[in-house]
Amino acid sequence: MAELIDHPCVQHKLAIIRDEETGHKRFRELATEITKFICYEALKNIRTREVTVTTPVADATCRKIDTDLVVVPILRAGIGMLEGILELVPTARVGFVGLYRDEETKAPVTYYERFPPQIKGGTSIVIDPMLATGGSTVAAIDLLKENGADDIVVVCIVASPEGVELVEEHHPDVKIYAAAIDDCLNENKYIVPGLGDAGDRLFGTSH
Ligand code: URA
Repeated sequence: MAELIDHPCVQHKLAIIRDEETGHKRFRELATEITKFICYEALKNIRTREVTVTTPVADATCRKIDTDLVVVPILRAGIGMLEGILELVPTARVGFVGLYRDEETKAPVTYYERFPPQIKGGTSIVIDPMLATGGSTVAAIDLLKENGADDIVVVCIVASPEGVELVEEHHPDVKIYAAAIDDCLNENKYIVPGLGDAGDRLFGTSH
């Protein structure tokens, strides 16, 4: 299932980040700002526990987060969303997944994986700005599940209908949060209209 974050503050920033005139510095800042808003929504149902806090006036019954949060950026573009989520939940742990696409089989191949043990019993948040074909996201979720994770959400900035469908087909238990679900993929598997190559725009590596 996918949830669209349709808030005007998010949509306004999305309009700017999509703009081809937006340079890498501003692109990075916007990726951080948008991620923070989307993650705020994505974490609305995480487990909390009741605590009593003594204020200068009296005891207050409060709630604190009661699950281990593990953020998992898919390399490389996922790194561009890390700062935003860590501003929201600074104690979250971070795992990494690196994948490339085999030229012949077109299947995603893992070249790097490193997860904190807290993915077992905790909540894993897979971050990647572009959910395009969905192949890497499905592979990242497969890896997390193989390593014991059973509570996983995906946070992206822009998704394609094809990507959402693939994740839903393989992992119906995983909810996707996005600021936009765009029209389609083009022949190069770029999201249309999308925002271009998110990694290049984040890191200033485009020509
Ligand atoms: N990856 C990107 O960076 N952009 C797309 O449109 C699709 C995949």
